[in-house]
Amino acid sequence: MKGHAHSLLSFSAWLNKGFDLRAHAAQMSDARTDPEISPSSIFLAVFHSFVFRLPSFQQLDSELSHSHLQSWIGAERAFGDDTLRYSLCGFDLDPLEAMLVDVNRRLKRGKAFDEGRVQGRLVAALDGIEVLSSFSRRCDSCLERRVILKDQAGRKIEQTQYYHRAVGCQMVHSPVKPFLAIEWLQPGEGEYTAALRLLHRLPDMYGSRFFDILLLDALYAQTSVLELAHKIGWDAVISLKQNSRDLYQSAVRLFASRPPDVGFREQRDRKIYQVQLWDTEGLPFTIDNPEPVRVVRSEEVLDRNRYREAVLTPHSTDHEWLWVTTLPKQVFPTPVIRQLGHSRWKNENNGWMDLTKHWAFKHGFLHACRHRPKQTTASGERESVSNHGLAAVTLILLIAFALSSAFVLRHSKLARREHLTAIAVAAQLRAWVSKTPPPIRAPD
Ligand SMILES: [Zn+2]
Repeated sequence: MKGHAHSLLSFSAWLNKGFDLRAHAAQMSDARTDPEISPSSIFLAVFHSFVFRLPSFQQLDSELSHSHLQSWIGAERAFGDDTLRYSLCGFDLDPLEAMLVDVNRRLKRGKAFDEGRVQGRLVAALDGIEVLSSFSRRCDSCLERRVILKDQAGRKIEQTQYYHRAVGCQMVHSPVKPFLAIEWLQPGEGEYTAALRLLHRLPDMYGSRFFDILLLDALYAQTSVLELAHKIGWDAVISLKQNSRDLYQSAVRLFASRPPDVGFREQRDRKIYQVQLWDTEGLPFTIDNPEPVRVVRSEEVLDRNRYREAVLTPHSTDHEWLWVTTLPKQVFPTPVIRQLGHSRWKNENNGWMDLTKHWAFKHGFLHACRHRPKQTTASGERESVSNHGLAAVTLILLIAFALSSAFVLRHSKLARREHLTAIAVAAQLRAWVSKTPPPIRAPD
């Protein structure tokens, strides 16, 4: 069987040599005093639970009863989710964030972002995600909203829902798509505020602009975003919708009066799209900020045959997209802007969706931790540390996500040769530590 399955040995050798995993793990700290299980072991336990794609921390509990994983993460005994929770609530976020930045920098140096460049540029996207919603469990940093529900008798009732929301910035042009950073919305603030905080923080974290083009949702078609992007040196492609009323309407009016600049047919997933593009460089951004901007409109008609009353009849559906961009037309022709605009949309479906679906992202168990380590305040009182559990687990997940996908897509010859999916590789690594036969290949 040798050579037919991945071992944790080779994965770890790659992690330590290329990314200093063990050295980073040694930097981890939390709010406990003289803990029996070190913060490094807690980090490595959660990291491996994501690498193995365990469905829950209860599952990690049971994996830890295998002595092999215990010694692998440097723990002297098994421990349960109570220990994990108590540690993670007061986990220091700085070493985790430093590790995520270091991993991404090393990926860039190792040319992981070279493939898929758009006209030679690196592309990142900003998106929001919601995690953990609950009607009963809440913590100090929960966001709240009123929602309408139906009770058992079918009557409409209004209830308060508690939830958490974050904004993440992710590389999107290359096969390896790590997140660069994440920012949580504070109670009472909107996504825009948190996103601006994240964008301001990025150059400080990465020491340079790190990527060249930023893809943004319609919410961000605002002067302050364009000014910030200009200051940092990013170009932007932003969805343009009716919330930017003046620009949207002047673009629609202008394009309605003239034929398309480009037209072509495109095949995607066995469907044929008839694409027509319009492009203008001189529309005023807003009334207050009349600086001319470039706007691209795409009209895409999908022609299909479908059965209507047992007769195959042609049927077409059309879609419209608009984008505003700072990219110059000479270097970025109209079809390239459309392609960039669509890759943000794909990211919405692949980035967070992948994390929530295949990575057990929604870890509600950390949400309302009442049992937390205590610290002494400036006035000498003892109080519970504020709960960092969700933020800590999210950062560990993003580190595991970056490293696992780089391993599968860039490093492993075995994954390439045998066309293994990332999930299949995760199962092999897990099987190796559990010392059970790999479930992937039956003996020939
Ligand atoms: Zn909460």
